[in-house]
Amino acid sequence: MSVLSNRAKSLKPSPTLAINAKAKSMQAQGIHVISFGAGEPDFDTPENIKQAAKKAIDDGFTKYTPVGGIDDLKDAIIKKFQRDNQLTYKRSEIIVSCGGKHSFYNLAQAIFDQGDEVIVPAPYWVSYPPMVSLANATPVIAETTEENAFKITPEGLQKALTPKTKALILNSPSNPTGSAYTREELEAIGGMAVSKNFFVISDEIYEKIVYDDFKFISIASLSDEMKKRTIIVHGVAKTYAMTGWRIGYTAGPEEIISAMNNIQSQSTSNPTSIAQKASVEALIGPQGEVDKMVSAFAQRRNYIVDRLNKIPGVSCYRPVGSFYVFPNFSSYYGKSFQGKKIENSTHLADFFLEVARVAVVPGVEFGADPFERISYATSMGDIKEGLARIEESLKKLG
Ligand code: GLU
Repeated sequence: MSVLSNRAKSLKPSPTLAINAKAKSMQAQGIHVISFGAGEPDFDTPENIKQAAKKAIDDGFTKYTPVGGIDDLKDAIIKKFQRDNQLTYKRSEIIVSCGGKHSFYNLAQAIFDQGDEVIVPAPYWVSYPPMVSLANATPVIAETTEENAFKITPEGLQKALTPKTKALILNSPSNPTGSAYTREELEAIGGMAVSKNFFVISDEIYEKIVYDDFKFISIASLSDEMKKRTIIVHGVAKTYAMTGWRIGYTAGPEEIISAMNNIQSQSTSNPTSIAQKASVEALIGPQGEVDKMVSAFAQRRNYIVDRLNKIPGVSCYRPVGSFYVFPNFSSYYGKSFQGKKIENSTHLADFFLEVARVAVVPGVEFGADPFERISYATSMGDIKEGLARIEESLKKLG
């Protein structure tokens, strides 16, 4: 008898979190590692949000809540969609879960079956393919190009489509590339979703982190037809520096939300009561702190992209959103350090960690081996120091 299920045997830990843990354990040993690993804002959760949580505790709001979230929070989410995206949802079309990942996981469990194909444009966020596979469906990886800002084109989509296609995953702005889709691009994709009859899972968690007047559009807002076949996955973690609070939410057709509710009611029950109250304040309280954080991210982005592009042999797409850059380091593949050959993004990430003491996430984990992901949700001081270390270490490769 095998102890583990086949499901568990074939699963490896999330590489973003694993690298983060490795960097932290090196730091705990007194090694000064600069971590460009996990995408987690370095800012503290804004004060008004913390106060709302403290009030919830003082008020004794510490018991079970409805499985899919309290009405107050659903109403705040409904308000957010109306205010920011001109989308109208009912409470029955919203569910709150324990983080964006949990939202996506439960959604996958609710709509995918064996035999279903799910198109995942690469570079993709690390956990999409495993979560699709855990729901017994098949991730179909659709390559994109750096020249096209890593965005899937209608032609690329056409190639990946089969009669088994159940959904396309869109993540705009993107983790790991920072690219984002324009209205025209979304219209082309939406047109295909309608004519070929597939769902779009739109991960909009980086909606608010956009630069240079880029206008975020939710594909669900393009038409009623599109709204019916879009499921939006969202959360408060990235916008409000609330990664540890674990509040994600999903908006979509009532039938799907109701199935997710059943899954949640048999597994995790409600997300934390206190964190739900804090999230109400996050979504409908003052938004000034968000602007401050985004302008700090924008400064860092400018610095990091300019500096990376000055390193010989490195090219880096200039992101329009999120807090990652995805530079191409492949011109260094084939070079060696102390007799050890760097052949891929994993070797180079190991080299950066061991020699430069800088943690990055290898591009291969996002389905794109020429690249490394660098999160700039960290201080400008660390960014300067980390890039200097990367630059110096690359000179050692011959
Ligand atoms: N989504 C963040 C990242 O990509 C946090 C870690 C994770 O959940 O994967 O770094």
